[in-house]
Parts: sequence; C-alpha cells; structure tokens
Amino acid sequence: MVKIPAKMRAYCKKCKKHTTMTVRHEKGGRRGSGLVKGTRNQQRNKRGSGNKGKYSKKAISQAKMSSKTSQKVDLRLTCDVCKSTWVKTYPRTRSVEIVKTH
Ligand SMILES: [Zn+2]
Repeated sequence: MVKIPAKMRAYCKKCKKHTTMTVRHEKGGRRGSGLVKGTRNQQRNKRGSGNKGKYSKKAISQAKMSSKTSQKVDLRLTCDVCKSTWVKTYPRTRSVEIVKTH
C-alpha cells in the first residue's frame, strides 16, 4: 500500500515553474477510437482455414500472464494554475491510496 498526497508540487511545462497540482489516479488506459492493427489481424485470423501466422501458436500459459502481482500506476496531475494535465508514471505497487493531507 502506497499513500500518495492529493496535492503535490511538480514542475508544470506550461507555467515553466513548480506549481501545486491535484493528483488523480487513472485506472486502465483509454483506447483510441477503432481497433489497433494487432486486434484487426487477430480477428481476421480467427476465421477460415490456413496458416494463421503467429496466431497458429498456442496462447501463453496463464502462469506466465500472472507472474507479476503488482501494476504500474498512472497518475494524472492537474495544474491548479493553468488546468493542464500531465501523466506521471509511478513505480510498480500492489495498491495505491490517495490521501488528503489537510
Ligand atoms: Zn501550469
């Protein structure tokens, strides 16, 4: 468990100085509209016959998928002065809690 203050001072590229920023924990990445190339290839290869390239291989085992128990944390820092938002990647932790300091 890592406790992160709800307000922290960080460098703002727009203000070109350190400002107070509001911290928000973003869960999961947002996808762009439509599907990425890999997903389209996978969908095409799922149907029909013939060699399916790398999709002919067996899927990697579940044990390999879940070898890590922690996840990297994406924090959104919003500048209180100019309201622009920056993403700060936090090292791997099991869980994160945002704590109000005052
Ligand atoms: Zn700013």
